[in-house]
Amino acid sequence: MILITGGAGYIGSHCALGFLNQGENIIIFDNLENGHIETINSLKQAGKVEFIKGDLRNIQDIEEVFKKYEIDTVIHFAGYIQVEESVKNPSKYYRNNILGSLNLFDTMVKYNVKKIVFSSTCAIYGEPEYTPLDEKHPKNPVNPYGRTKLMIEQILEDYDRAYGLKSIRLRYFNVAGADSQTRIGEWHEPETHLIPNILKSVFEKDKTFKIFGTNYDTFDGTCIRDYVNVEDMAIAHVKAYNYLKQNNKSDYFNIGTSSGSSVKEVFDTAKSVTGKEIKVETLDRREGDAAILIANSEKAKNKLGWISNKTLEDSIKTAYLWEKSRH
Ligand code: UDP
Repeated sequence: MILITGGAGYIGSHCALGFLNQGENIIIFDNLENGHIETINSLKQAGKVEFIKGDLRNIQDIEEVFKKYEIDTVIHFAGYIQVEESVKNPSKYYRNNILGSLNLFDTMVKYNVKKIVFSSTCAIYGEPEYTPLDEKHPKNPVNPYGRTKLMIEQILEDYDRAYGLKSIRLRYFNVAGADSQTRIGEWHEPETHLIPNILKSVFEKDKTFKIFGTNYDTFDGTCIRDYVNVEDMAIAHVKAYNYLKQNNKSDYFNIGTSSGSSVKEVFDTAKSVTGKEIKVETLDRREGDAAILIANSEKAKNKLGWISNKTLEDSIKTAYLWEKSRH
């Protein structure tokens, strides 16, 4: 069976659907701090899902799972993800992301489970020295969140050398959209991400969408990001899992579309998809935002056979339908 940690969260749950689509049986392990039981209930309607509520910081919680089930591979999403919070409260990030991962990896080694797909991030590269970013770009994360992800990648390299734990690390760029059948979608509290925040301004009367910075060195002054669709992302995980099974070899890949959109372009696309006027105001830059982040995903294309299929418009359409279903 496949164990998915953090499978009640946004990317974890969409990837869980990807594995269910491939006919796999899955176990989801989540403490439901940021994930949602409603998400688990929706997944249970899509296929065979076991849910275990537990916290990776308690090694007994995760050990119970390995004792009870025959696990073949782990897909590891569980962790805190907010950059700003990680700067204010690094202890929370190091304790959860690092200690939680160590507990998981040690338990895997103990139970002889030697394959893992890890959700990493382009934040491990830090301020880009060039774009599009390939996997050879220097790694200088600029906040504790990015540092935890880079450290976990390094721990995985050491665990491969010492214990033969094989990992595929997927370095995500910006993930967007929802399940195309609107069963699950992006649901963060508080919401900090661009697309859901734009769409919330459609449904919530008092909410005005805020653009963080219009004086960046880009063609329209707003930040440029590479928005990869969450269902494409799920396919990347299934391909990474299949690759690991076939090759039993560790590797790492950037997962993005290889093209960028500015905040203003995303906003204009959202206006045209929804057909609504959306209230907008301009604020100062948000601390820590790089001007341009675009992936070079050639390696994922060549070795995993993964390419992004869906457009930004596709992602905004499904995100809109999801947001609509929640209001
Ligand atoms: N952004 C914005 N308003 C918001 C949320 C985000 O202008 O309400 C901008 C943010 O400054 C960044 C881009 O949108 O340039 C993407 O931000 P997001 O938080 O979605 O992802 P990140 O790139 O930080 O991982």
